[in-house]
Parts: sequence; C-alpha cells; structure tokens
Amino acid sequence: MLLLKRQGEDDAFTPPDEETREKAPPRRRRIRCPLCAWEPRPEDRWGCVCFCVWNTFDTGGVCPACGRHWTETQCLRCGEWSPHEAWYEDPDDDAGA
Ligand SMILES: [Zn+2]
Ligand SMILES: [Zn+2]
Repeated sequence: MLLLKRQGEDDAFTPPDEETREKAPPRRRRIRCPLCAWEPRPEDRWGCVCFCVWNTFDTGGVCPACGRHWTETQCLRCGEWSPHEAWYEDPDDDAGA
C-alpha cells in the first residue's frame, strides 16, 4: 500500500479575496445642523463681517468677498455655532450599526 501525501496543498487553501464590494459612488453628503438637524437650503444666506451675504456651504465656509475662512457656521434655526465640517453628515452614519 502506497500512501501518497501531496504536500503543501491541504493547508495552502486561501479563500479568494472578496474585494467585490460595490463601491458607492461619491454621493453628495447631506448638510444639516449637528445640533438641531436643520437642513439649510440653497437659498439660505450667511453674513460675513465684511457684509458679504452668501450661502456658506457653496464655498465650504469661505467668504467669496474677503476670503475669510469660517471654520464655524451658525445655524439659522437654533442660532448655535458648530464646526463647518460637523455640518456635513458622515456617510458612515446611516450604516445603522
Ligand atoms: Zn467676507
Ligand atoms: Zn441648529
């Protein structure tokens, strides 16, 4: 009786990489107040110290007139200031862990 042991095959099994996860297209992040969840509309306006009035989310918090970068944005509903970045909803938030 001849026992043939094929070496290296039994424990060399590696599952194929399952990197077939669909990559979601870069969808536009929702913008809402991190405190009261108010969602600014395109026609909403913020005022700069230079008296320029514009939609701060069009420019990422940068005043188009004087170039001042507003790192915090005031909610037009609750009146509170929050970091501009905090207004952009985290895409991972709705994973619903
Ligand atoms: Zn300005
Ligand atoms: Zn608010």
